[in-house]
Amino acid sequence: MTGRAHLARRPLASALCVVAALIAVAAIAAAGRLETFDFLSPGACDRPEPGVRSADFLMGTYVVISAEGPEADPAVEEAMAVLRDIHRHLDPSAPQSDLAALAASPGRDIPVSTHLIAVLEIADDVNRVSGGAFDPSIGPVVHLWGFDADPGPSDGPDGGSDAGPEDGSATRPRTAPPTAGEVTEALGLTGWHDVTWDAARRTARLARPGMSLALGGIAKGYAVDSAAQVLAGAGVDRAVIDAGGDLYLLGTKPSGEPWRIAVRHPRAEGFLGVLELPGGTAVATSGDYERFFVHEGRRYHHILDPSTGWPVSGVVSVTVLAPTAAEADALATALFVLGPERGLELAESLERVEALMVDEAGTIHLTTGMRAVFSPELSGEDSRSGGRGGDDGD
Ligand code: ADP
Ligand code: MG
Repeated sequence: MTGRAHLARRPLASALCVVAALIAVAAIAAAGRLETFDFLSPGACDRPEPGVRSADFLMGTYVVISAEGPEADPAVEEAMAVLRDIHRHLDPSAPQSDLAALAASPGRDIPVSTHLIAVLEIADDVNRVSGGAFDPSIGPVVHLWGFDADPGPSDGPDGGSDAGPEDGSATRPRTAPPTAGEVTEALGLTGWHDVTWDAARRTARLARPGMSLALGGIAKGYAVDSAAQVLAGAGVDRAVIDAGGDLYLLGTKPSGEPWRIAVRHPRAEGFLGVLELPGGTAVATSGDYERFFVHEGRRYHHILDPSTGWPVSGVVSVTVLAPTAAEADALATALFVLGPERGLELAESLERVEALMVDEAGTIHLTTGMRAVFSPELSGEDSRSGGRGGDDGD
């Protein structure tokens, strides 16, 4: 998590392993994603305890830091300050954001934050390995679909998702899809090769008027990594940084046991299972239940295929493990777009990247390494009693 790690291919072409049909999931009700240790929701999993906890609504979600160690208090403060700085530069709701500056002056090199440069470089890696499935230049299409509308913190700690503009340009959530012509037109304003930057000069440029960046699939992960770096640098013993389900596990528990993180069921109350993970792991989930509307019985959600401009079908949720939260976040979106077969193939090909994908039929697909850390047994009830200290949240 220190510095920028290039996504590395595994040395050997590993077996293309699609492990199917471990569990059939019932397609019914509510939403959910990774359930963690955080104190804002029922304590399903681990957190450092006793320790320092701090939360704020940033990047369109509740970001929660739980940390333990002699210097934890000031370190958490400092990490929160870094998170707010990232929000100021990278969140579409922030009036002075790099995103707003770039969109306002197409065709010109614009001074931007080091945060944006770092995010663009990681995004470029994920764009490349995913063959363009991850493409933050999809901003105009996200806007057309209304998925940049701002849910605001009123959604509560379990309901927050990507933010949208709060400066008057906010879109209203849609109740019906745009026309095919509108989608094609918006798609014409996308293109990753038309997003360029100069890391040394700290400038970036969008080539054409109407272009915009959507960082909803990577900025939260980058923010989590940045906070983790601050905490690690301050010598914090252990911490969990959670941005609405994109999280980083820092250090080891005193018992030496792995961290336990429950993965929520994408279609029902309760959990798909539990991940047992070592420190130094990032986890992120992308789901079709985060932002969507239903029109004439069809679900339209916020993960869009950059080649068509339409919501991706076939997958309902993807959980990715990676060395950094930015990679996990972006890869979860990329794998969602690629679908179970090509998605798992990509995850298997990358060093220290594992994936769990739930398809439309409820079938769970796992990479080889994910099989070693995922236990599907846990029910919602079990997970609650498995939480520490009987914390029921609020
Ligand atoms: P969440 O924000 O709920 O964690 P994701 O991490 O999957 O969900 O990110 C989804 C967001 O990413 C969308 O709201 C949009 O801003 C952006 N996005 C949608 N499709 C793509 C894509 N194909 N490539 C990159 N970003 C995308
Ligand atoms: Mg994500």
